[in-house]
Amino acid sequence: MSVVTAPKDTAVWVDEERCKACDVCVSVCPAGVLAMRPEPSSTLGAMITIIAPQDCIGCYDCELHCPDFAIFVADRKEYKFSKIKEEAKKRAELIKKNNYRLPDGV
Ligand code: SF4
Ligand code: SF4
Repeated sequence: MSVVTAPKDTAVWVDEERCKACDVCVSVCPAGVLAMRPEPSSTLGAMITIIAPQDCIGCYDCELHCPDFAIFVADRKEYKFSKIKEEAKKRAELIKKNNYRLPDGV
């Protein structure tokens, strides 16, 4: 397993080589930070994308639930996370209803 170094000033990041596009992290994110994008070269035809890092609240649910250790969240001592916003909660609901993809126009 490779050693993952935290990128500077980044709330959440992904090792795409480990991601199996299972949707779990998107399903647990309360703030609509994550969504799947089409990716023909991936096994399931999709890949995780960080669409709204500025809205990450640092709950760690994505990192804790990822079965492939592919997603990482910054340390609370090193990154100032957002507070949960209504707009972010609504986006999260829309993404979940849209089969974990970002709906058009959101
Ligand atoms: S939970 Fe992990 S493996 Fe599944 S889509 Fe998210 S980053 Fe990829
Ligand atoms: S830490 Fe929480 S809010 Fe941030 S991307 Fe992961 S699940 Fe979403």
